[in-house]
Amino acid sequence: MSRVAVVTGGNKGIGFAIAKGLCRKFDGVVYLTARDEARGLAAVEHLKKEGLKPKFHQLDVTDDSSVNTFKKYLSDTYGGLDVLVNNAAIAFKNDATDPFSIQASETVKVNYFSLVRVSEALFPLLRPHARVVNLSSSAGHLSRIPGAELKARFANPDLTQDELDQIMREFIEAAKTNSHQESGWANSAYSASKVAVSALSRIQQKQFDKDAREDLVVNAVHPGYVDTDMTSHKGTLTPQRGAQAPIYLALLPKNTDIKGKYIWHDNTIIDWVNDPLPTPY
Ligand code: NDP
Repeated sequence: MSRVAVVTGGNKGIGFAIAKGLCRKFDGVVYLTARDEARGLAAVEHLKKEGLKPKFHQLDVTDDSSVNTFKKYLSDTYGGLDVLVNNAAIAFKNDATDPFSIQASETVKVNYFSLVRVSEALFPLLRPHARVVNLSSSAGHLSRIPGAELKARFANPDLTQDELDQIMREFIEAAKTNSHQESGWANSAYSASKVAVSALSRIQQKQFDKDAREDLVVNAVHPGYVDTDMTSHKGTLTPQRGAQAPIYLALLPKNTDIKGKYIWHDNTIIDWVNDPLPTPY
């Protein structure tokens, strides 16, 4: 059976560049997935014109039925999965007029709870030596949490996924009454969602370490400040450069020590709890 890699939100930006890079470097089939079939197929056609051979499957990370359909397809067709890049995410623009409560619930729904949904669905398919890459952000470093008590909850090495889910539900509730800052959060829904992705990656690695399958690895990554729609093209790095660290993590060699870590765009390992946030981002 072929080895299989999957990239979520692969139709544009960093996800597209990751899919492209994996087509070149990964020894197996690469699935560029997208929530919108037309945009996904257009992206696949674009890569085919460059002589690459990605495959396409529809995947809306917020939609149980879409996720389950894709899971069944992978299971029936390949019987497993070797690389999962959880890239899909949203960010409200700085000048968005949506109330903060809506920004909080939508952002955490897509960036955190949908990443959980995809992981829970697809992790049972992971084969030994599988690599999972969770796209976090410089905004997902623990230092982005101002409140000492909240920070300690995130930093707790024994934090469980249920507790983390609960913390994120508390954020959404606090945002409804605009009391999130009193509860220790920064005034950024995106940052809250990405801190959760970083914390989740630590928890997922602990689960992998107990798994019967050998050498399952997950890391969180800050791809750099990248010129994409998300940054309104203000980012300084090209999408190809932004894809560099995610691709490195997707292709980590067998029995690597780099697992459950928070990785900077230059591939350095940052201590998520104790290191200061590197600058520039
Ligand atoms: P873009 O906004 O350019 O692309 C986001 C991708 O996610 C698009 O393909 C989008 O699809 C997809 N997506 C959004 N919602 C869903 C959904 N429900 N189901 C499936 N796909 C979805 O962002 P970037 O390429 O800049 O960001 C990629 C990742 O890197 C994100 O996780 C982001 O948070 C992270 N990141 C980016 C940084 C940057 O500087 N750009 C910095 C730090 C982290 P569609 O086209 O349909 O909307």
